[in-house]
Amino acid sequence: MQYQAPSNDIQFLLFDVLGLDKLHELEKYADATPDLITAVIEEAGKLAATVIQPTNKVGDQQGCQYDPETKTVKTPDGFKQAYDTFVAGGWTALDAPLAYGGQGLPHTLKFVVDEMVCSTNMSLGMYPGLTHGAISALYEHGSDALKDIYLEKLISGQWTGTMCLTEPHCGTDLGLIRTKATPNDDGSYAIEGTKIWITGGEHDLVDNIVHLVLAKLPGAPNTTKGISLFIVPKFLPDTGERNPAFCGGLEHKMGIKGSATCVMNFEGAKGWLVGEPNDGMRAMFTMMNEARLMVGMQGLGLAEMAYQESLGFARERLQSRSLSGPKNPDGPADPIIVHPDVRRMLMRQKVLNEGMRALALFTGHQLDISKAHPDAAAREAADDLVQILTPVVKAFLTDEGYNNANWGQQVLGGSGFTQDWPLEQLVRDGRIARIYEGTNGIQALDLVGRKLSLKGGQLVRNLFGVITGYLKEHQDAPHREAVKGALKQLEQATLWLATNAPKDPEQAGAAATPYLRLMALTMIGYLWSRMAGVAQQQLDKGEGNTTFLQAKVASAQYYFDKLLPEADWLMKDITSGKDSLMAFGDDHWAA
Ligand SMILES: Cc1cc2nc3c(=O)[nH]c(=O)nc-3n(C[C@H](O)[C@H](O)[C@H](O)COP(=O)(O)OP(=O)(O)OC[C@H]3O[C@@H](n4cnc5c(N)ncnc54)[C@H](O)[C@@H]3O)c2cc1C
Repeated sequence: MQYQAPSNDIQFLLFDVLGLDKLHELEKYADATPDLITAVIEEAGKLAATVIQPTNKVGDQQGCQYDPETKTVKTPDGFKQAYDTFVAGGWTALDAPLAYGGQGLPHTLKFVVDEMVCSTNMSLGMYPGLTHGAISALYEHGSDALKDIYLEKLISGQWTGTMCLTEPHCGTDLGLIRTKATPNDDGSYAIEGTKIWITGGEHDLVDNIVHLVLAKLPGAPNTTKGISLFIVPKFLPDTGERNPAFCGGLEHKMGIKGSATCVMNFEGAKGWLVGEPNDGMRAMFTMMNEARLMVGMQGLGLAEMAYQESLGFARERLQSRSLSGPKNPDGPADPIIVHPDVRRMLMRQKVLNEGMRALALFTGHQLDISKAHPDAAAREAADDLVQILTPVVKAFLTDEGYNNANWGQQVLGGSGFTQDWPLEQLVRDGRIARIYEGTNGIQALDLVGRKLSLKGGQLVRNLFGVITGYLKEHQDAPHREAVKGALKQLEQATLWLATNAPKDPEQAGAAATPYLRLMALTMIGYLWSRMAGVAQQQLDKGEGNTTFLQAKVASAQYYFDKLLPEADWLMKDITSGKDSLMAFGDDHWAA
């Protein structure tokens, strides 16, 4: 089925709920008028459906091909043409800085485009996706000289970027990396080591690939405090000489087969330091935080496509009669969409997808405010929210995006398991998003172990304040008591962590994942209340698309009846502590 971009929902969220129609009042985003934002949404939807989606299945079937003779990688048929069209349309430059040829548009729009690209071909989207992170790391931490050499070409899409962290013996624990950087006489460094699973490490979409590589300087401490970041181009920009950074092979993997996942051998390749020596993790975190938000959009994008496919199927597939009497009396059976259990799977997808989209675009909007608001306090408050919500967006949207793709597959019955339908590919592609950019378990640890205590707890207090402020201002908010109750539970869980974790860090480790889910469900509850409130107001005034608005109100009801109650057992999970988890001795596991 051809992808239908959820433009109505996006516009409702951006303009009617989140207030992006006012963003152009900030000087930095003066060009981002509602008309322009609407045009970007419409054009991105068309591009996704007509240029990107047609490459998705062939990408899965062909995968990338490695040539050991030339150590090069060929992407699947159609990828190069689609990438070139993406570049020609200026999509790689959308929110990039004006000073280096970017369009300087709001980051929220990039979130929107990421979702659409990932709905239609997640693998293809990864090439510009990783490049975008490289641009940000370089822009924030690189010297002017490096920026002048690299940024314009990366932003225009003429070159792509990679992120080289993982090594055969370490992924999560990057303090263990062994890649070495030895100073050369000319101010550059010789980079030596092997990185694995490097997305876009080698491919045929562009002329040059720019690797951002974590490595250790001689004598650096053997922890994350001893890591530096280097920029290592495939071809040296001044001479065009081939740098010895070679692809040693491709991973054979479960999904995203059109994305080249490469072993990269750095054989004394020339690199240049980005940022300060031994401070590479800070620079890399700029890239990783951004990539984490993008990966969240991958989860949502796949879930949206799965919803569209499974909804279409459920309307066509005839099986059994409705429990309340025939709904298709002239046919041999009723469409399966009449059955409560099928509706449960569809509703869960629709309501969670829309809630997750609201959470992501809320976070994108805060990111824009954090970069552009004239008032420093407003910028800081927005940045606090982005920081605390980044692991939540990454983990929750990829966990539930994957689960929703699974529910979509379930709606199709046996058809969902066959390659005649795209659901099995969506499920396979979506699985990795829960793992890379820091597994979702690590996101939860980042939330409870780091973000909760930053600035003496200011980030989380700020988040509570957003919901409390909303409830105070909207005494008649829909589902007010449920939102209030969820917030209270989140506050209690936070207090429980503040009391128990400092004495025993394993308590934080045990509570991390359910706590992250509790925060996600609470925030999404707050956003569903806002969406339902706006929808009801518009219905009362006779404005807007009635069917769309009625669906919003009904979806909110489903969220509060069926999904938010998970918060109750998450609370029990958190506050029951670590004991039953840690009770096993080594000999108990296989008993
Ligand atoms: C398709 C693909 C593309 C990738 N792209 C890139 C890329 O472009 N660049 C790059 O550098 N890397 C990339 N990676 C690597 C990816 O980021 C890592 O796989 C990921 O960070 C997890 O590391 P690991 O696989 O070594 O797992 P491990 O670190 O070995 O972890 C294994 C398990 O243990 C858990 N765990 C580990 N430590 C802790 C802890 N302290 N507390 C609790 N749980 C813990 C983890 O959550 C996980 O469940 C890619 C991987 C794949 C498969």
